[in-house]
Amino acid sequence: MSSPLQSLSFVAIVALIVIVALGLTACVVFVGGTLAQRAESQRPCPECGAQALRWVTFLRATVLVDGRRAPDSWSLHECEACGVRLKDHRGTWEVPSESDGRHFEAKE
Ligand SMILES: [Zn+2]
Repeated sequence: MSSPLQSLSFVAIVALIVIVALGLTACVVFVGGTLAQRAESQRPCPECGAQALRWVTFLRATVLVDGRRAPDSWSLHECEACGVRLKDHRGTWEVPSESDGRHFEAKE
């Protein structure tokens, strides 16, 4: 038989586990985000090879794929060594579109 005191301590232990788990998750998210930023700064420029890529912005949009709306996202980068402007679209370097151009101008 469990006394009210025992069930109370059980609730306290469960609450403690939940708090610790949430705290660990927050730490992992924070460390992961910091590592992602470090990885970004260490990516070489595909044009000149310099470690000088500057992250400009991240964009989300709805695009039409085969007539259906689909979410899309990409990030814009600029090399501070050779000045090339790049679009990272799902891990592939592309030339930024005309509409992406205004994001580069806005950051200058
Ligand atoms: Zn470059």
